[in-house]
Amino acid sequence: MNEVKALIEKYWDKVREHRWYLHQHPEPSHQEKNTAAYIAKVLREIGLEPTENVGGYGVVALIEGKGPGKCVGLRADFDALEITECTGIPYASQNPGIMHACGHDTHTAMLLGAAYVLNELRDRFDGCVKLVFQPAEEDAADSGAKAMIADGVLENPHVDVMYGQHVWPALPTGKIGVRNGAMMASSDRFFITVRGKSSHASRPEGGIDAIMIASYIVAALQSIVARNVGPLDSAVITIGKITGGTRYNIIADEVKMEGTCRNLNPEVRKSMPERITKIARGIAEGMGGSAEVEYRMCYSPTVNDPEQFKLMCGVITETLGEDTLVIPENSALGGEDFSYYCEKIPCCFNWLGCHEEGTPEYPIHNGHFLVQEEAMPLGMETMVGAALKFLAQ
Ligand SMILES: [Zn+2]
Ligand SMILES: [Zn+2]
Repeated sequence: MNEVKALIEKYWDKVREHRWYLHQHPEPSHQEKNTAAYIAKVLREIGLEPTENVGGYGVVALIEGKGPGKCVGLRADFDALEITECTGIPYASQNPGIMHACGHDTHTAMLLGAAYVLNELRDRFDGCVKLVFQPAEEDAADSGAKAMIADGVLENPHVDVMYGQHVWPALPTGKIGVRNGAMMASSDRFFITVRGKSSHASRPEGGIDAIMIASYIVAALQSIVARNVGPLDSAVITIGKITGGTRYNIIADEVKMEGTCRNLNPEVRKSMPERITKIARGIAEGMGGSAEVEYRMCYSPTVNDPEQFKLMCGVITETLGEDTLVIPENSALGGEDFSYYCEKIPCCFNWLGCHEEGTPEYPIHNGHFLVQEEAMPLGMETMVGAALKFLAQ
């Protein structure tokens, strides 16, 4: 294991360089052409033969060991978000309005680092490591994981287990969180269209105000969380986007809203489409308008396999020390399309602490979010360690 640490140190400057490049050149879901090409180029430089365009812009490469054995998958996502970066760092985003605000730049740089290390150690293990660089994690309606699986990423050779990780600002650098069972919630997406009737702003009685109806709907949706979900169950309903109206002096005839639902309990999850539809329609009709709801079931909860959870805990405590491992009491209500792999094969997903103590804590999906880079070697060691431990079994 000291050898792994030494190799990570050897490649650290390169890994950081990759991270800076990726951070400067973020691309949103389904548009990660340049990112994918960059990943493939780095892999080819060390003699690997990456397959490109797997399920969109996905990139897959195999590191074969000295003899036959099992196959372990390591996954990193690489899409960015439509957010303006406010960090003020020297390697800030050069693409206006786009930012790696979910840390996927670090996931990808760490997996490139793991590729360097495992490639040097290839005569030490049997079996193979499949590196899975995945696009479009942030698009719950059109997931990159789902597309890569449909395109055969888990076959030829068949992947026996898969490991993934996410940088986690709620944990300080030096800590890694992992749970037995659910790590992340289901993540669904819904669209509401409210229709009214336009009129002169000074003659509201002649129209039906879609903006007023939408406002009541936004507020009333929270009654589902407060009054339809049991206090010991978890749910989040968020409207994240709302557009409507054409002019300040016209009563709006249409409003479109988009939102997301997060659940850990499958029964609660199943009740969401009907509750949201009834509230939206009921309010709209009561006020003389109408509402249509489209509800899309997207990511299932991300659930760790008990055996792989045990293996991951072992890797963290043996290589990084007992103090590093954190077993969080609760799962997070964020969604993660790693769940698609979890549905197919035994998997383990961990949270890599990345918050610099003493600095303000910004959540992921915030324009100020920044990963403390000292976390990245720990992330690489965990991924490399888990792969080697599984293949040695
Ligand atoms: Zn995200
Ligand atoms: Zn993410």
